[in-house]
Amino acid sequence: MEQKGRAWIELNIEHLRHNVGQFQELLPAGCAMMPAVKANAYGHGAPLIAASLQQMGIRDFCVASMNEAIELRKAGITGQILILGYTPPGQFPELAEYRLTQTVVDYPYAVRLNDYGRPLRVHVGIDTGMHRLGERSGNTETIRRIWDLKNLTITGVFSHLCVSDGTSQSDRDYTRAQIKNFTSIVRSLHKRGISGFKMHLQGSYGVLNYPDLRFDYARIGIALYGALSLPHDKTKAAVRLKPVLSLKARIECVKPLYAGESVGYGLDYTARTDKKIAAVSIGYADGIPRGLSNRGYALVHGKKAAIIGRICMDQLMIDVSDIPQAAAGDEAIFIGACGPNEITAGEVAQCADTISNEILSRLGERLERVVSG
Ligand SMILES: *Cc1c(COP(=O)(O)O)cnc(C)c1O
Repeated sequence: MEQKGRAWIELNIEHLRHNVGQFQELLPAGCAMMPAVKANAYGHGAPLIAASLQQMGIRDFCVASMNEAIELRKAGITGQILILGYTPPGQFPELAEYRLTQTVVDYPYAVRLNDYGRPLRVHVGIDTGMHRLGERSGNTETIRRIWDLKNLTITGVFSHLCVSDGTSQSDRDYTRAQIKNFTSIVRSLHKRGISGFKMHLQGSYGVLNYPDLRFDYARIGIALYGALSLPHDKTKAAVRLKPVLSLKARIECVKPLYAGESVGYGLDYTARTDKKIAAVSIGYADGIPRGLSNRGYALVHGKKAAIIGRICMDQLMIDVSDIPQAAAGDEAIFIGACGPNEITAGEVAQCADTISNEILSRLGERLERVVSG
């Protein structure tokens, strides 16, 4: 288990506990966290993260797919697991077998779920403006008819915000409109005598930027892992989050690269002066974006070492000219802190023109995952 051989992820469960505490303080009384542990818990490792959260008292989880949900059940997760995406009818038996909660993605899908002929637990998705999943919030009568389907046990109604991370006036207006669409469809259901379901609307940024909303669950993903999507994101709520994940790999060998010589595939980097370089055992198959070639950096002995040349599938090269003690077997940190320096997932994402959610969720299967704190 604690091999730390080639390239690995270190997980700080105390930081996860800290982040849970921060959100429990922030969320209104009666609102429970429903952590998003899809995509292998954003690369952190879903069974371990979910089991840790369960030990901290969390009972509800959401995932993207049936297979992710079954993996959690097999890891001993006993509470509610909501599948946020589409499950094909061929897999409806597993919904019942594993006691999973399925999202109703629209009215025709509700009918198919009902036609399965056995009771299924569902949350009804409402499209309040993102125009991805959910029956459109204006279709009040169609939405109401979902409650006529006798095999559906409807325990929740939810929607999703699409610009809650934005701070511009138009983003805030759009989010306010989504909130209004959501509360008004709920109100019309109540008026028609339909109740007894939980409501949820916010993901991480919905909570961080609209902390005063009062719903039953908050589907927190990225922020629970102690990351923001981008490093400069401003949020309304003053929470202090600590990163759960560090990403590290071994230096394999150190050697000179003399002035005028080039390195790696395509000979894409040429030394202008004599350099000392190191090959490191991590590459794009492990989730280091190839776009960081000649752009990103690692920390070695607490100092910055630039990624030079093209990133390979399993390896990459860094410039350790200014780090005299760098040697084979040393750690190179790609996400995480060392000494006075830290590389956050958000910074890596910014450098690769994406968001930390993508960087983390694509961290590779072959990385070892070890608990550090
Ligand atoms: C992924 C997802 C979340 C979590 O989003 P974060 O921004 O990572 O907190 C919440 N709700 C839905 C529907 C999602 O797909």
